[in-house]
Amino acid sequence: MDKTTVSAILLAAGSSSRMGENKMLMHFCGRTPIELCVEAFCGIADEAVIAVSPDTEEIALAAAKFAPYPVKIVRGGETRQESVLNAVRAAAGTIVAVHDCARCLVDRETIKASLRAAEQHGCGIASVPVADTVRFGDTGETLDRSRLLAAQTPQSFRKDILLNAYSKAVGSFTDDADLCRSTGVQLHFSLGNKQNLKLTTRDDIPYFEFLLSKRSERNFPSGNVSASSAAEPHSVNNPTLSTAEVSNMFRIGIGEDTHRLAAGRKLILGGVEIPFELGLLGHSDADALAHAAIDALLGACALGDIGQHFPDSDEAFRGISSLLLAKEAAARIRSAGFEIVNIDSVITAQKPKLAPFREAMRINLAKAFGVPSENISVKFTTPEGTGPEGNLECITVRAAAAVRKVRI
Ligand code: MG
Repeated sequence: MDKTTVSAILLAAGSSSRMGENKMLMHFCGRTPIELCVEAFCGIADEAVIAVSPDTEEIALAAAKFAPYPVKIVRGGETRQESVLNAVRAAAGTIVAVHDCARCLVDRETIKASLRAAEQHGCGIASVPVADTVRFGDTGETLDRSRLLAAQTPQSFRKDILLNAYSKAVGSFTDDADLCRSTGVQLHFSLGNKQNLKLTTRDDIPYFEFLLSKRSERNFPSGNVSASSAAEPHSVNNPTLSTAEVSNMFRIGIGEDTHRLAAGRKLILGGVEIPFELGLLGHSDADALAHAAIDALLGACALGDIGQHFPDSDEAFRGISSLLLAKEAAARIRSAGFEIVNIDSVITAQKPKLAPFREAMRINLAKAFGVPSENISVKFTTPEGTGPEGNLECITVRAAAAVRKVRI
């Protein structure tokens, strides 16, 4: 079987009759609808084919210049149908995702779901359930809402299925789903997104700008795509994101902590009490893993270090479980506008064997920091008898953490 490849068919040849001016020429948060759609398919599609009119050709060329994947420009036709056909004929992919550039808020999950359905069933029509009561204006008769779906784009198809339908279809159709259905193609629907709106009238503009400004605070392309062989994008190379935008969204930090081993103390790491003849010495419970993780997180947020937040001169912290400090640190990080992404760590200890306690440590830290345990990594290394850790003088922990800025 042929390797699956994906072509995004981006439609930007319409006349925007309901808008009064060409909506493709507008800018939202500094970007044109075509640029936003090219970005949405980045790392998902192997190429994009943009259908343009004479009015939109120039901005499509501008978007293509900065696209991190191949982009072809084709002339659209008199109708949407002709434009789709011109673009699909120019497409190299085995799957084509037909997308209306007026839906420039499309999210990557909607695209991926549509492609997955196309890969499995031949077609995937992004759709959302209808929330409103819908009735006929003339008779007042209400439609059964449970049976209704509002169609969006992308509408993805195996290219051979779509071309075959185009060769058979007679007449004009609202969209490609309608056209395919008229030729007997069984439709499959994938879950769209209520925010995948179509820019239609001038009244839509403020809402689009609002949603895009919220997204530029939060969104960061990520995740795998089953329907595409393309590598995921390196978002820092994405020309539509400035370095300042990236650093505001995604930040990393490091932390390191060493505590002496001493007799008569408990050995606590990641909130787990580990049976051993020596324990870690410190003002709190001396949980070096929790401390290094806290420092990595504070570092990612540039919020100082653990000593500033929880000074060892403070009697309130004597003997305290460091998981409580972790919980408090996480609260301070969140109130500063950050979301914790993940933590990785490595414990350097000659003895005892720590691996049996790994899962318990991950679960404790996950609960304390308020993240899923799959986002917490705890690793171990022995120093082969070298250095202070090798001589059982101390245990050292190093940690790295990533956070996202979710609020400016
Ligand atoms: Mg410490």
